[in-house]
Amino acid sequence: MKSNSRSYEAIIIGGGPAGMTAGLYTSRSRIHTLLIERGLLGGQMTTTDLIENYPGFPQGITGEELSRLMEEQAKRFGLETVSDEVMEIGLEGDLKRLRTYESTYYCKTLILCTGTEYRKLGAPGEMEFIGKGVSYCSTCDGAFFRDRQIMVVGGGDSALTEALFLTKFAKEVTIIHRRDAFRGTRIYQERARSNPKIKFLLNSVVKEIKGDTVVRSIVVKNVKTGEEKELETEGAFIFVGIAPRTQFLKGLVDMDEAGYILTDAHCETSVKGVFAAGDCRKQLLRQITTAVGDGATAAFAVEKYLEGKE
Ligand SMILES: Cc1cc2nc3c(=O)[nH]c(=O)nc-3n(C[C@H](O)[C@H](O)[C@H](O)COP(=O)(O)OP(=O)(O)OC[C@H]3O[C@@H](n4cnc5c(N)ncnc54)[C@H](O)[C@@H]3O)c2cc1C
Repeated sequence: MKSNSRSYEAIIIGGGPAGMTAGLYTSRSRIHTLLIERGLLGGQMTTTDLIENYPGFPQGITGEELSRLMEEQAKRFGLETVSDEVMEIGLEGDLKRLRTYESTYYCKTLILCTGTEYRKLGAPGEMEFIGKGVSYCSTCDGAFFRDRQIMVVGGGDSALTEALFLTKFAKEVTIIHRRDAFRGTRIYQERARSNPKIKFLLNSVVKEIKGDTVVRSIVVKNVKTGEEKELETEGAFIFVGIAPRTQFLKGLVDMDEAGYILTDAHCETSVKGVFAAGDCRKQLLRQITTAVGDGATAAFAVEKYLEGKE
């Protein structure tokens, strides 16, 4: 290994529940591990208000608190973390070389836990007004919209749960959905329909988001009639699906057409010694429970791989 670089037995990219669980397991097994996270430890959990389906917390737990507890537990066993972003990965024999904004690292094993991010709508005005009325995170930005009229775009669980959360602040929330029925779980649909602050604009797509220094209106088109109308609003919260954060891994490991990483049952990718865990991996369910399960499996597989190399 190069003398000016830092080297580890295992490096984990991403500090969401998958990465922090993997780090807890490898550190507890005395594997010299570094976890690299470009944002907040906790990943998507940090943007979640209340988590009701993670076992052990019968009254639910906030995403912030669960993130804090996972971090504390992993660090108790000596997990090292660094705030940085991995830009590129190369292979040098059995070693993996990671180039980040700040440094270069080498490791014997790598666990990819990069999660997913919100898909963009692609409408004119969307990028221009991010942070000025366009948002992808109601926990982060909801409080700025107290007593305002806002729009939520999307028809799945995220759109419904975020719209419900936003009624804590906004005076009215209109959900814009391109179909006439929702894809979201029934319990969320029922809660949304019985909430007097939530209105629905179905069979409609967003054509443009307009404003001056902030969002002022949104242009929608009815997909059945073709009619377009401009509606006044002060905020547009967009929840139209997710995409894996794996762009920078293209060419390194095998992926499906959507960019999800392909692994075997031990979370090993097409490259020996490179594992993937959590939402970035191709699988049926993407939740905190599945992410922590993957993190534990990948860490155990790392241990076995390293033992085989001794
Ligand atoms: C609003 C919302 C509500 C949710 N509610 C629930 C719920 O109630 N129950 C539930 O079980 N699940 C819920 N989920 C889903 C759950 O949060 C995810 O399934 C889980 O966080 C996935 O964990 P992960 O570790 O795979 O990825 P993530 O949590 O996405 O973490 C990945 C991390 O990797 C980092 N990263 C990515 N690329 C790089 C790079 N190149 N360099 C360094 N760091 C990088 C990211 O910054 C991120 O912190 C919710 C998600 C959202 C967005």
